[in-house]
Amino acid sequence: PGHALVIGAGGVSSVAVHKMAMNPDIFGTVTLASRTLSKCDAIAASVKDRTGETVATHQIDADDVDATAALIDKVKPDLLVNLALPYQDLTLMEACLKTGVPYLDTANYEPKDTAKFEYSWQWDYQDRFRDAGLMALLGSGFDPGVTSVFASWLKKHHFDRIRTLDILDCNGGDHGQAFATNFNPEINIREVTAPARHYENGDWVETPALSHKQSFDFPEVGEKNMYMMYHEELESLVTHLPEIERARFWMTFGDAYLTHLEVLQNVGMTRIDPITYQGQEIVPLQFLKAVLPEPAGLGATTKGKTCIGDIATGTPKGGGDEITKYLFNVCDHEEAYRETGNQAVSYTTGVPAMIGAAMMLQGTWSGTGVFNMEQFDPDPFMDMLNKHGLPWEVRDLDDPLKF
Ligand code: NDP
Repeated sequence: PGHALVIGAGGVSSVAVHKMAMNPDIFGTVTLASRTLSKCDAIAASVKDRTGETVATHQIDADDVDATAALIDKVKPDLLVNLALPYQDLTLMEACLKTGVPYLDTANYEPKDTAKFEYSWQWDYQDRFRDAGLMALLGSGFDPGVTSVFASWLKKHHFDRIRTLDILDCNGGDHGQAFATNFNPEINIREVTAPARHYENGDWVETPALSHKQSFDFPEVGEKNMYMMYHEELESLVTHLPEIERARFWMTFGDAYLTHLEVLQNVGMTRIDPITYQGQEIVPLQFLKAVLPEPAGLGATTKGKTCIGDIATGTPKGGGDEITKYLFNVCDHEEAYRETGNQAVSYTTGVPAMIGAAMMLQGTWSGTGVFNMEQFDPDPFMDMLNKHGLPWEVRDLDDPLKF
């Protein structure tokens, strides 16, 4: 069994660390390090309680490459699992290169001062990882992550050619708060307020944020409004499945959430440029995060289910008339909470992070360089989803999406 060093101690990390501890045959040792040691200790205590396994904890500022490299040298992990924030991706990749350790994350790098979502910064590390003989696996969460593996599984088993791909992310959960975000509020709000972008006939088409609304009847959740957004897996999917003519991403939002967001935006509270208040520099969005409920604290009261999946239309294997397939997972907030003490949004990200780490530690997925999820054989990953709490289902749809 291998040794994983997990960085970050939020909701996603909590789920991943619990799940690693539940699989000691794969993860012989798990070490957890983050900015706030007490949060690491709280996760370690819960893991001990639920599984009997011991997780060693350390304090680390992952923005500091030298300090992180020193920690890696001390702990000697076989893999670094980055479950801190996207801002730390590049410093952690640097620390891995410095110490010769493979790397995994769940979200692509973003600079703090511009809400810009693209893989270019991390893809630029391709040569350095390859030359160092190391593997970096990007985006091993649900979306990106499972949605990317879903696309490659559909392609491998059902399609000669995928013509259109839609990723639908529905959170039918209710946390009982007037306004809260299900994961890090700063990251969440930056993503939602950014312009929508989808891929069509070789070009990216940009439209204003939240301007495309559709209703969709989600399995086990029911009818919800969803909005077209940009999401990072679109960029890697159209790169690795260049046959795709149109790729879009949709996410559900309730009316109350959107109304709150509109007000916050109108009054300037979602700005990411610093303002001076009483002689101190404050980034309004970071201040907003400080007054909103902690996503990790919502678990106990959240009810309902998430349903996330891919709808693909294209030519079936062996040719013939076009077919449409819908491949999805449904995850129950309360069941997720019972298992690891975290709600389904953290659960659906933390479980695939554990599975991606297992793929790397066991050598099931291997290579040198920087990789996205859809570049590997989807089957072993899909098997583990079924076994570790995120079972999936595939359905035939009579028609392609009509919108
Ligand atoms: P949280 O905000 O709950 O947790 C982030 C953790 O990272 C916190 O413990 C935080 O420390 C720590 N951290 C932040 N900065 C540093 C630093 N400089 N050094 C060390 N630790 C640091 O986030 P989530 O758990 O919700 O999300 C974790 C990651 O997962 C994010 O990158 C997010 O974008 C991604 N994600 C991916 C999804 C997917 O499907 N692919 C879906 C949801 C999330 P502190 O406690 O001190 O603040």
